[in-house]
Amino acid sequence: MSSAPDTTRTNLLGLQKTDLESFVGELGNKPFRARQLMNWLYKRGEGDIAAMTDLAKDFRAQLLTCAEVVVPEIVKTQIASDGTRKWLLSGGNGQAFEMVYIPEEDRGTLCISSQVGCALDCSFCSTAQQGFNRNLTTAEIVGQVWLANRELGWKVGDDRILTNIVFMGMGEPLANFRAVVPAIRIFLDDLGFDISRRRVTLSTSGLVPQIYKLAEEVNCALAVSLHAPDDELRSQLVPINRKHNIAELLEACWHYLDEQNGRSVTFEYVMLDGINDQPEHARGLARLLRDKPAKLNLIPFNPFPGTNYRRSPQAAIEKFRDELTQRGIIVTIRKTRGDDIDAACGQLAGQVTDRTIVRLGSKTFGLQVRA
Ligand code: SAH
Repeated sequence: MSSAPDTTRTNLLGLQKTDLESFVGELGNKPFRARQLMNWLYKRGEGDIAAMTDLAKDFRAQLLTCAEVVVPEIVKTQIASDGTRKWLLSGGNGQAFEMVYIPEEDRGTLCISSQVGCALDCSFCSTAQQGFNRNLTTAEIVGQVWLANRELGWKVGDDRILTNIVFMGMGEPLANFRAVVPAIRIFLDDLGFDISRRRVTLSTSGLVPQIYKLAEEVNCALAVSLHAPDDELRSQLVPINRKHNIAELLEACWHYLDEQNGRSVTFEYVMLDGINDQPEHARGLARLLRDKPAKLNLIPFNPFPGTNYRRSPQAAIEKFRDELTQRGIIVTIRKTRGDDIDAACGQLAGQVTDRTIVRLGSKTFGLQVRA
């Protein structure tokens, strides 16, 4: 394992099972070699090809000439008073992105990034202020989970430390569809990290066509950043709404559940003082979500330098929740974690120095979504 990618070698962490089978096939080997490799990589956390001792010697020698296991380099580690950990990871060329580990009594969640920066320009999100630099590769996405396991001291035979993975770090995962989908497959694959489909959550700001595509490709939990009950307000907060409105978005969500036999979609709702936290907003939300397979997760706004928004007072958040529960909506209030190290939702800023694409809200909706 190293942290300096060699472009002439293939990073094994970027290959889902079928790709790994093709890769070993091209080297003249049988598909079971791919399973052996996955066992070393994901069941044993081994990153050193030379140490993969039950691989045939000549196969190992072959791999050493053309393959590698590379994870993002750690630039900085911070540990919050509540045990939350945040790592700043290098994306090369002075760019950096973040991942966060959130320990709870009954689970360990890793919040991972899918892009360096973000182009979606949601007005209350710190990552948006950074602009967009680039998509992460599948290897960089999978590498975050691999690396977190190592950093957290996981060893073969131990219980899992990471039970849940959420795409709630930097970036819009559906705007990096090509790299994110194979990564999710590796998380779910029983030869990979073998995490249950209800414990891998993709959170999106609402890229409707990609939600339909996702429904065809993988089966994981879906979270959607709703943040407003009507199009006028949502378009101010989440500019992609001007392209795909709430009605279209909800349609896509129900389609996703139908296709995937899913139980519910989690709708995230950031609580912004005086903006979207009034009783009429709660009533509007209840009208949208009543009798639907939906859960609502209220996120107290996490401030960052330069923002004009304020967090709704706790009493307002609880009142908002009560308005909704009275109308039969399942609501939870997200506990703020790691805010003393800026590791809470929407505080991840990484280091985006070279913004190659303008932010979505500033000018254009010509967002490049390659899939
Ligand atoms: N691009 C994805 C992942 C974003 S981060 C998405 O939009 O869903 C995960 C959640 O944190 C999203 O719901 C996002 O809207 C929310 N969030 C962003 N900034 C926040 C802030 N400052 N305080 C609280 N939540 C925030």
